[in-house]
Amino acid sequence: MEKDCIFCDIINGKMGTKFLYENDTLVVFKDINPVAPVHLLIVPRKHIRSINDLEQEDKKIVSEMIMAGKDMAKKQGVTKSGYKLIFNVEKGGGQIIFHLHLHLIGGWR
Ligand code: 5GP
Ligand code: ZN
Repeated sequence: MEKDCIFCDIINGKMGTKFLYENDTLVVFKDINPVAPVHLLIVPRKHIRSINDLEQEDKKIVSEMIMAGKDMAKKQGVTKSGYKLIFNVEKGGGQIIFHLHLHLIGGWR
């Protein structure tokens, strides 16, 4: 757990955030400022700053995040209509929270 990291606080239950799914590797919760009808964040329990900081040992985490994205898309009913899975990387890439997360965005009509 990293000091002054809002996603570490959320993962540790300090913010009372509801998880739509969780397992030993990751948690899934709704984005507080959704840009589409479905906007979830898939967040590893391990504090990793960004995609740039991934190590070989994190391979399983990343693959689980993508699989969770697929599974959550199905649960949210957007599999057929389609969706985006997005990693923003560092400031120029639009990242504002420096704890790795995958956006699941979809549900447009
Ligand atoms: P980034 O731009 O870093 O890829 O995305 C961070 C996302 O986290 C943003 O879409 C933002 O709305 C969301 N976010 C920031 N703070 C909170 C929070 O306290 N709770 C939740 N649920 N989402 C947050
Ligand atoms: Zn963190």
